[in-house]
Amino acid sequence: MEKYDVIVIGGGQSGLAMGYYLRRSALSYVILDNQTEAGGAWLHAWKSLRLFSPAQWSSLPGMIMTGGSDYYPTRDVAIEYLKSYETKYNLPVKRQVEVFNVLKVDDEFHLQTSQGLFISKVVVSATGSFNNPFVPDFKGIEIFKGQILHSSQYDSDGQFENKRVAIVGEGNSGAQILAEVSKVTGTLWVTQKEPRFLPDHIDGRFLFDAASQLYAAQKEGKPFKPPSLGDIVMVDSVKDARARKVFKSIRPFDHFTEDSIVWADGHEEKIDIVIFCTGFKPGLSHLKSLNMVNEDGKADTSGTKSTKVEGLWLVGYGNWTGFASATLIGVGRSAKKTVEEIVDYLAIKTKSVN
Ligand code: FAD
Repeated sequence: MEKYDVIVIGGGQSGLAMGYYLRRSALSYVILDNQTEAGGAWLHAWKSLRLFSPAQWSSLPGMIMTGGSDYYPTRDVAIEYLKSYETKYNLPVKRQVEVFNVLKVDDEFHLQTSQGLFISKVVVSATGSFNNPFVPDFKGIEIFKGQILHSSQYDSDGQFENKRVAIVGEGNSGAQILAEVSKVTGTLWVTQKEPRFLPDHIDGRFLFDAASQLYAAQKEGKPFKPPSLGDIVMVDSVKDARARKVFKSIRPFDHFTEDSIVWADGHEEKIDIVIFCTGFKPGLSHLKSLNMVNEDGKADTSGTKSTKVEGLWLVGYGNWTGFASATLIGVGRSAKKTVEEIVDYLAIKTKSVN
């Protein structure tokens, strides 16, 4: 059994950002991660993935990612960056430790893990959403004899030659995967609405700035309307696909048959593979015993602090845990504030005990 002031669950970019600020405190802490190496979700992203923010804008606190303001890093560059970050700051990450369940026992948390019991006064959940892919519920999906994939399972275009492939989803994943698969076979792009592409000169740093302005305006109670721009960033592969004119989209179909997808008006397309690029929900199954996960898969928080369970914080899951907190550059701000809150919380607790 090991005992700490703070245990961070998850050693991806959010867990490491927490480590950066925790190491400046006097608190004892550890980061538990179920992977074999640093990199978090990036370890499982497809080979050709390009970040939507340039390197300079894809950095955790303290260490700029090299590459400057015109280079969109690859998945492997992001993984190498996280590895070096962990080493540079000598962060205490324990691998491979899977946290199965978190229990509250009096004033402590008991974490049941693949390496036995860990105990702490505070838990920070930073498990991301990669382990909880979301696939919408289409009628007949269970009788479809072709292959259903989620973007989290997509690796490269290798297996798609001469297959009829439908790609569902209008975000960056959908656009980047479509751009790649359309080079080797015919594709059909199914989107809920007409996809919107950002102007070529606008990238993730702009989105982060807009999120920051919205955050500042809300804090001051001032109105701020974020710019109404689309959300697909024009990385090179997407520009290339645009030149090949493959970005024609069609609204969602109604149901699956054994070998097709069928629209409400009866139109039918024979399909071999459907790739759902439809996002993720927070991966919070390890917190189920605390009874604080809502039906939408999120938790009630004030900033990153759980409003249901004292001593629990959630970091990096998206705007509901802090603006742009699911990005490399945005999570630093959430992590800093979270550590400040934890230090105050534990100081008050210690005072009231003495
Ligand atoms: P993760 O990276 O998922 O890390 C969580 C870690 O916790 C993982 O190692 C996981 O295995 C571990 N874990 C989970 N459950 C447990 C458990 N029970 N016990 C122990 N360990 C556990 N982000 C950017 O910042 N910039 C970009 O430009 C960018 N571009 C993107 C482009 C595309 C096309 C896509 C799809 C995503 C992009 N992202 C980008 C988003 C980014 O990949 C994620 O938001 C990010 O990985 C989330 O980090 P995290 O640390 O919160 O979670």
